[in-house]
Amino acid sequence: MREILHFVNGERVALTGQRRSDIFNPNTGQVQAQAALGTADDLGTAVAAARAAQPGWAATNPQKRARVLFNFKQLLEDNMDELAELLSSEHGKVVADSRGDVQRGLEVIEFACGIPHLLKGEYTENAGGGIDVYSMRQPLGVCAGITPFNFPAMIPMWMFGVAIACGNTFILKPSEKDPSVPVRLAELMMEAGAPAGVLNVVHGDKEVVDAILHHPDISAVSFVGSSDIAQYVYATGTANGKRVQAMGGAKNHGIILPDADMEQTVKDMVGAAYGSAGERCMALPVAVPVGKKTADTFVEMMTEEVGKLNIGVSTDPDAHYGPVVSAAHRQRIEQYIAMGVEEGASLLIDGRGMTLQGHEEGFFIGPSLFDNVKPDMQSYRDEIFGPVLQVVRAETAEEAIALPSNHQYGNGVAIFTRDGNAAREFARNVNVGMVGINVPIPVPVSYHTFGGWKRSAFGDINQHGPEGVRFWTKVKTVTQRWPSGSVSDQSFIIPTMQ
Ligand code: NAD
Repeated sequence: MREILHFVNGERVALTGQRRSDIFNPNTGQVQAQAALGTADDLGTAVAAARAAQPGWAATNPQKRARVLFNFKQLLEDNMDELAELLSSEHGKVVADSRGDVQRGLEVIEFACGIPHLLKGEYTENAGGGIDVYSMRQPLGVCAGITPFNFPAMIPMWMFGVAIACGNTFILKPSEKDPSVPVRLAELMMEAGAPAGVLNVVHGDKEVVDAILHHPDISAVSFVGSSDIAQYVYATGTANGKRVQAMGGAKNHGIILPDADMEQTVKDMVGAAYGSAGERCMALPVAVPVGKKTADTFVEMMTEEVGKLNIGVSTDPDAHYGPVVSAAHRQRIEQYIAMGVEEGASLLIDGRGMTLQGHEEGFFIGPSLFDNVKPDMQSYRDEIFGPVLQVVRAETAEEAIALPSNHQYGNGVAIFTRDGNAAREFARNVNVGMVGINVPIPVPVSYHTFGGWKRSAFGDINQHGPEGVRFWTKVKTVTQRWPSGSVSDQSFIIPTMQ
């Protein structure tokens, strides 16, 4: 059985852990490899390597660090096909979507290539008599990232791309469901010229996560995953004196006003709800049409569009989406569909029990469409994370907008309308972190910043963009005066600018 090893101090290593996690090919349902699951000792070995590499890396001037990132970006482009196919074979998303996963991460690397400019501090000449003040951003030291299964290329690069650019060294603990691409990324980073120990990958589960949260030499932790674990990581990490950002789950709404371009909206919603089998934190699993006429038209057109969806293996270029990541996850999605039926929602299309001919053991699930979902249903309140679209009908725009604002999650939201003022007011007032206006998946570009509100993110500083640079650095402010020949009087009063 192929074994997926850790990557520490510039090489693939087995380390000490005896436990293994099965790595499935979701298309076939078969175990294709096993990943080593690390221990606290394994994490300690990686931290020691990262710690040894950190002073030299931090002392490397930012332009030279940027050159490594330029090389890494080139290597990502050169190896795009291999990375995308590897990613699909463990995750199940179609290869074109896996390319998008790598590409979105690559775009964060492009942002991080600008690090010499991004790290420039501030300077005030002559802030007081003969005194100049300047600030600088310094790396934190050894940092860690803990990532989910659904974007095994993009999310690690959100984190280590910016962290490394800032002069930190890094331990990545990827999802134990699809860990191969993160290891390849670390290898490519070495090939790009990063010294050994700058980027390390330790596989594992709660045991390694807890070791990260308690290790005294780790300064900062970035987490992305489900909300309960995000909250735990945030509480435990900050209690141990670490800087922590922890992104959680989502339940994003698409609000459809009566004046929306319905043909375009339906096309946008079908891609955003069912793309990647709904396994995206920025998917749109809830549609909120305003008014009966809008709702009836939307449901009729959506029913037709969903009927045309083609579910296939990841390598099928005609497939709209592939299998979900595991049999357990498929079962969980099917349980939520059953719950929706029990709660009284109208199941118009039922994706349960689907099998793909020739791939009967694969983790496939058809698309499901619910109408007449009510805000008090648990199947609406929870994140399903599957190819299930729930239509919640609203009588007024105010009622529609209150739904995402009052939901426990606040990651993304979209509004479909031709009314500029309605959209502007919506963007200003909705209680959600990332807003799309006629844009179904408003994932911000890499030089802006990514982060939700409420139970979608714990901590105050977002991923990538200038916020990312703030997260992975600490600011130091220097107030300086040089001898000028004259001696000033001693003073026992706090210095002021009076
Ligand atoms: P998950 O929470 O199960 O796992 C995330 C990470 O936490 C993994 O590395 C996993 O090994 C680790 N982990 C799992 N159980 C743990 C435990 N008990 N203690 C400590 N660590 C543990 O999430 P997932 O299923 O891999 O990913 C899907 C979730 O991630 C969804 O909720 C999705 O919305 C969310 N997500 C959020 C964002 C965002 O930016 N807000 C982006 C992508 C995914």
